Amino acid sequence: MKRNPAIALSLLLTASLTHAQDYDTRAWLKGNTHTHSLWSDGNDFPEMIIAWYQENGYDFIALSDHNVLQEGEKWLSAAQIKKKQRAIGRDAISKCEARFGKDWIQWETRGEEKGILLKTLEQCNEALGKPGEFYLLPAEEISNSGSGKPVHINAINIEEVIPAVKEDKETAQEVMRRSMKAVKARAKETGRPILAHLNHPNFQWALTAEDLAAVAEGDYFEVYNGHPGINHLGDETRPGDEKIWDIANTIRIAEMKAAPLKAVATDDSHTYHGGDVSPGRGWIMVGADALDGDEIVIAMEKGEFYSSSGVTLDRISFDQTSRELTLEITPAEGVEYTTEFIGTRDNYDAAAAETGIGEVFATVKGNTASFTMPDDALYLRATVTSSRKHVNPSFEGQMQQAWTQAVGWEAQ
Ligand SMILES: [Zn+2]
Ligand SMILES: [Zn+2]
Repeated sequence: MKRNPAIALSLLLTASLTHAQDYDTRAWLKGNTHTHSLWSDGNDFPEMIIAWYQENGYDFIALSDHNVLQEGEKWLSAAQIKKKQRAIGRDAISKCEARFGKDWIQWETRGEEKGILLKTLEQCNEALGKPGEFYLLPAEEISNSGSGKPVHINAINIEEVIPAVKEDKETAQEVMRRSMKAVKARAKETGRPILAHLNHPNFQWALTAEDLAAVAEGDYFEVYNGHPGINHLGDETRPGDEKIWDIANTIRIAEMKAAPLKAVATDDSHTYHGGDVSPGRGWIMVGADALDGDEIVIAMEKGEFYSSSGVTLDRISFDQTSRELTLEITPAEGVEYTTEFIGTRDNYDAAAAETGIGEVFATVKGNTASFTMPDDALYLRATVTSSRKHVNPSFEGQMQQAWTQAVGWEAQ
């Protein structure tokens, strides 16, 4: 899945000569950066989860357990594993034995209890890693809280755990800022590109769009997370994740002269034996030059990725001179695509978030969609919605979608 270097070079030349962002996205890498295993509150063995993603067309995944990397020793009793599973059908242990063989599982009795030593990321890599074909991105969900609200941040491409440090009387926004700074400090210290995305802001209504805007140290957030309990659509009085993105971007660009947030889509999968928090719901497509943690993060830092819950793109191009954004969508038989071009005008009414912020400038049907950014727009982005239902929806009526990053804001 390595991108042709000739194509990469021609893109680079095009970009520097004409300031166009013109990406052939057909060979971009598919990955999920948010997954839980038995190392924290997921209910399956890491090797089983990795095998699932390999068999379902992914190029990379991050096992992002809470406050832990899959290293050292983790022992769970067979009873604990069964309890976590809340099983319907065959249990996790017998499924793992059936997949990897009877000798695979490392049984160890402690006291009177029969139990299992979980495989580490390194062991999983040895058994399942496929250099150049499938990559295991070391990651962690830094899981903290402020004012009693969860502040969860995924740190991707880490070498060591970044601890969730507790401090008294901090708001959720303060915890978010401190955690984002800690990740940036770690990246600087180690010289290793590390990416941090703020997860599910509406989970327990922990963080608002204004919080996300204010923490300038945060560069990424989840515009879609497949956990059904994260209030993706908001409610009568609170905006959903997509509107949060527009509000935060508007404040950042207009008031803070800062870059907008880049958005990821993820699974946040916990359950793998039936149950409601399953894998395969949201992912990113990344234009990395190689299937490697550093290259994936470097591409994402440049904005060379988009988010998806089912729609695939062949091309994304934005001409900085004409300010035209064009998407080519990978066609599918009998499927219709609707692209909404969204942004905020510079005379927006801060009080009218529902209409003035994240305005739908145009709605275009078809496999190709183009739109020229209005002169008074602060930024432009696109959401594509398929006429096809999501195969494994996390909310009622969910259709397959794709979200591109915001463009055109650099000129502001
Ligand atoms: Zn979380
Ligand atoms: Zn999670």
